[in-house]
Amino acid sequence: MLDTAQPRQGDLISVVIPVYNEEANVADLCAALREALGKLGRPWEVVLINDGSNDATAERLDAETARDARFTAVHLRRNFGQTAAMAAGFDHARGEVLVAMDADLQNDPSDIPRLLALIDEGYDVVSGWRRHRQDKWLTRVLPSQMANWLISRTTGVYLHDYGCSLKAYRREILTDVRLYGEMHRFLPALCQWAGARIAEVEVEHHPRRHGKSKYGLSRILRVLLDLTTVKFLMSYSTMPIRVFGPAGIASFLVGLVLAGYLSWEKLARGASIANRPALMLAVLLMILGVQFVSMGLLGELVARTYYESQGKRVYAVRRVSGWGQERG
Ligand code: UDP
Ligand code: MG
Repeated sequence: MLDTAQPRQGDLISVVIPVYNEEANVADLCAALREALGKLGRPWEVVLINDGSNDATAERLDAETARDARFTAVHLRRNFGQTAAMAAGFDHARGEVLVAMDADLQNDPSDIPRLLALIDEGYDVVSGWRRHRQDKWLTRVLPSQMANWLISRTTGVYLHDYGCSLKAYRREILTDVRLYGEMHRFLPALCQWAGARIAEVEVEHHPRRHGKSKYGLSRILRVLLDLTTVKFLMSYSTMPIRVFGPAGIASFLVGLVLAGYLSWEKLARGASIANRPALMLAVLLMILGVQFVSMGLLGELVARTYYESQGKRVYAVRRVSGWGQERG
């Protein structure tokens, strides 16, 4: 992330909000932000990303930015999705601390100071936890609880509420993380992978008052697929042969033994093996084995291209002390 090099401002807090068809929420949202952020006693800005809305959101946002210079609106050319919108917001924000939240006022801006307090304590990422969540239990809360359990187990980063958008990030940690697909919910895990210190804090949650949710049950499947990607990236992106290699070799060996046994049946005992299902299985296992190992090797090539062509590092530095610093 963070491609457009915006001028940095030391103390500045940037609140980043993706907005998609939220015309009825914009005015209340901006008023609530002004109220809550006014109490911070430090400079702040709000970056609103209009994610290709086709209602009056654009005009409402422009009205806000016209009357208050601390509000910026970034209008995307089409609907790119919440994750892309967040990435655009991070790129356009100038603060050293970035706070993300939703536009529908389900998150409460008055929680922002509590997130910032933990950032000031030295945490790199502070994640909100909607302990008393105001959504439908069966279709929203339950799937989300199962997802949190699964994501925590898989990534080893235990959070109660991955789905909560209200989170604060120290900017430097995001420079090591890139966002794709629907990945914003995995940001804490990806950040921890980059070495971030993570904290969780309880936050308010309100029912949606205006407009409707942009997501349905199909999100569950997408989250599962994204989790697979994240797990792979976190554990194996620098050594894909370790995922595919062992399975490939095992499959090939089992196939080989089976084929050996069938050959012995045919050659030594003259048995007919053409009608044996085991023959199919043996061939299948050996082909699968070769395919898996080749996939691992291809993966290794891709990984090298990925890291080297983009000058990516396989590590993340927190700080350097001593003479090394001079080299900056
Ligand atoms: N959003 C967006 N682009 C999209 C879908 C959603 O920018 O394609 C924004 C939306 O306006 C809101 C936030 O992402 O600010 C979360 O969306 P929503 O409230 O619909 O999700 P839910 O709270 O129901 O999970
Ligand atoms: Mg919402």
